Amino acid sequence: MSVNGENYHRIIAELAARNVQLIAVSKTKPAADIQQLYDLGQRDFGENYVQELVDKAAILPDDVRWHFIGHLQTNKVKYIAPFVHLIHGVDSLKLLSEIQKQAVKTNRVLSCLLQVHISGEATKFGMDDTELAEAVNSLHLFPMVRVRGLMGMASFTDNGEQIRQEFARLNKLYREYPQFDTLSMGMSSDYQIAVEEGSTMVRIGSLLFGARVYKKED
Ligand SMILES: *Cc1c(COP(=O)(O)O)cnc(C)c1O
Repeated sequence: MSVNGENYHRIIAELAARNVQLIAVSKTKPAADIQQLYDLGQRDFGENYVQELVDKAAILPDDVRWHFIGHLQTNKVKYIAPFVHLIHGVDSLKLLSEIQKQAVKTNRVLSCLLQVHISGEATKFGMDDTELAEAVNSLHLFPMVRVRGLMGMASFTDNGEQIRQEFARLNKLYREYPQFDTLSMGMSSDYQIAVEEGSTMVRIGSLLFGARVYKKED
């Protein structure tokens, strides 16, 4: 089978010992692969592209919890609002405002994480500390949006110490907001560091589904 069941069981055991939730990142992978992991017991799946998420959600079991982990454009919130479980990458008031609007329309409280820019790289999305504080202070404007915590991506580097420092910084910010209960950080290459630095939710793709053919983020 194309899903790596051995890795899945090993990672699940590792994470369960630390009370960390696993999001299986299935972007670019066929629905049949998701179904294989579902049959092993996985229910939380992460996708980066709206159309792909909508198409997969239509054919996979209803009790899958779909996480949107990519960069979400405001004009596409409406397509995922009726069913999405958690939106990880919210990085602007404009997006929060659109999520509020669609939450009202679909009559669903929509759960989100605020994305913080923690890497040294200019290319990654996310808010700086000031923007984060401003967003948190504005949440009363968005009563149908439930912000549960923070999400971040470390630099793409082999330097484990640098990655650790970036995650530690995100955890420090996270702990400034005792109302939050979710800290989404860690991917295939760095999830163990993320867990050591206080992650409550990791997003793992290639270790479970194998390498992806590269697809550009929008
Ligand atoms: C693709 C992706 C992941 C998973 O990456 P892997 O290296 O395959 O584990 C995690 N988070 C985000 C935001 C992603 O885009």
